[in-house]
Amino acid sequence: MTFAPDYPEARVVASPNHGERLRPVSLLILHYTGMPTAESALALLCSAEAEVSAHYFVNEDGSVLQLVPEARRAWHAGKSFWAGETDVNSASIGIEIVHPGHADPRPYPEAQIAAVTALCRDVCARHAIRPERVLAHSDVAVSRKIDPGEFFPWGALAAAGVSLHVAPVPVWNDAGIGPGDAGPAVEALQRDLAAYGYGVPVGGVYDEATAQVVAAFQRHFRPGRVDGRADASTIATLEKLRVRRA
Ligand SMILES: [Zn+2]
Repeated sequence: MTFAPDYPEARVVASPNHGERLRPVSLLILHYTGMPTAESALALLCSAEAEVSAHYFVNEDGSVLQLVPEARRAWHAGKSFWAGETDVNSASIGIEIVHPGHADPRPYPEAQIAAVTALCRDVCARHAIRPERVLAHSDVAVSRKIDPGEFFPWGALAAAGVSLHVAPVPVWNDAGIGPGDAGPAVEALQRDLAAYGYGVPVGGVYDEATAQVVAAFQRHFRPGRVDGRADASTIATLEKLRVRRA
């Protein structure tokens, strides 16, 4: 089965893995393929047995493939959460970016990031997706996923008006709060993360789930240190981001 591409630059390579979309599109989720070669990743995303897919696939040279029509629900996010939404696949467009993953955390090629940026601009314009709803897989599947990685250049996308980004507040050597801590400061942090959209328990106890959400936040917004501890830099960067969004 083939179809006309929604993005004019894309070449269609149809995947059988999709279903009925149950929500309007309001999220854009970025992934890395995390496999040694583009060919192996594309084969997986088009294999009926694998039951995974994404709408778009961006090669290292910047060429773009479309695997699933945007009107259909692709299977890229898995069990996920953002700002009350638990069916992220139904509410999103998914983009797989060819990259070997954390096994080889090399920079994404410039041509590839330029292509991702142009694709994101087009998708966001057509679906009126707000910048703060262009997210990492690691933001919406906090305990399971770490892609597209702390080495993904979110600033380049933000410079083009895609995704929300602030310069991270520099890291210094305060311990901040972390696992085992409890009290009003922990609860305030949890409330701020939940208000931004993260699926975090709000109870004033810095449990493992909270540490995982803090690490996910750092991976996207304060990549200089991804340790799950809310130091002053992490808390100040979150505050800057919340002010920027408001
Ligand atoms: Zn992913």
